[in-house]
Amino acid sequence: MSNDHPAQVGAGRAGGGVRTLDPRLDAMLVRRGELVNRWAEAVAHGYMHSVDLLDQLIEVESLIAYGWPRIWLQHSRGWFERDAALVHSASNPSPACPTCRARAAALGAPEAA
Ligand SMILES: [Zn+2]
Repeated sequence: MSNDHPAQVGAGRAGGGVRTLDPRLDAMLVRRGELVNRWAEAVAHGYMHSVDLLDQLIEVESLIAYGWPRIWLQHSRGWFERDAALVHSASNPSPACPTCRARAAALGAPEAA
């Protein structure tokens, strides 16, 4: 059985719209989503481990690209566009960022919009 069977529909999953029957790919997509979110948070707030997170993200993306090349070709651009939407800063907070939410809560302000 091929590793790159595309059976993707839908949205809102960690893989940015990829639905797969392969649990290994599912795990990779979940891991990628977690790493991207943590990386965006680390960069926005100057956390020192942002480079480590980027290294881990590149490793996961390489595994996806080599293991499921068709999925990679079909979806990676959309993932990168989603990733770009996570870029933010302390002065331009993101509701998806745990640090931004914690800071807004500490200030007693409404959550970042
Ligand atoms: Zn933030």
